[in-house]
Amino acid sequence: SYGFETVSGREEKQARVNEVFHRVASNYDLMNDLMSAGLHRVWKDAMVQWLAPSRRPGWRFLDVAGGTGDIAFRIVEASRGAAEGAVLDINASMLQVGAERAEKRGLAGNLAFVEGNAEDLKLPDDSFDAYTIAFGIRNVPRIDLALAEAYRVLKPGGRFLCLEFSEVDLPVLDKVYDLWSFKAIPAIGGAVAKDRASYEYLVESIRRFPNQMNFEAAIRRAGFERVTHRNLTGGIAAIHSGWKL
Ligand code: SAM
Repeated sequence: SYGFETVSGREEKQARVNEVFHRVASNYDLMNDLMSAGLHRVWKDAMVQWLAPSRRPGWRFLDVAGGTGDIAFRIVEASRGAAEGAVLDINASMLQVGAERAEKRGLAGNLAFVEGNAEDLKLPDDSFDAYTIAFGIRNVPRIDLALAEAYRVLKPGGRFLCLEFSEVDLPVLDKVYDLWSFKAIPAIGGAVAKDRASYEYLVESIRRFPNQMNFEAAIRRAGFERVTHRNLTGGIAAIHSGWKL
């Protein structure tokens, strides 16, 4: 196991995460479809629907751990082209795939692709109407720092939304899900991406992440109010919401 509590443990975790996403970047979108049987699209749609991006010009969002752009593209489209945003990620390989996709979709004018760390955003206080993070926060070594940064960069009245794997709360589904994650995902990762170890790491990181209630508590500790969550597909994933008031 990795000792994330120490400085070297944290750095080791981040280095490992960086290596994983550098290796999977070119296959990332295909692998998402295979491993979630297409469900990640439905979950991402649900997140952006709950966000209900404004169509007011000048409405700004920050999509952290934004990778290849899936959330940012949906937000710009839902705002009918009004929203402007930044896709921030620690990994240049993921961002490069994202920037190319944005260009192809004609969305590049609304989006900036920025290399950065969720734990230390290097962006001004009170500057975004929404902060989104999808399947990203469990990769960040110090979740509390990432949440504090989310709170800091949001404008008063701004919205925090996080989509992440969570705890399954249906008796039969949890057995199926265990089989899927411990057997199928590493096997697909080995066969398609030729990288079983990265996908074993992915499954491990999902199991270590706090459940719905514990994550809600962490979001409140960062200062957010009206914190709630919605389960998706029996809790395989959940969306957490909070407001900076
Ligand atoms: N949000 C995208 C999506 O839903 O398709 C990408 C999610 S991908 C599973 C996780 C992303 O988190 C990777 O692109 C990775 O580089 C990024 N990441 C990991 N650690 C990070 C950190 N400390 N700060 C910012 N991004 C990070």
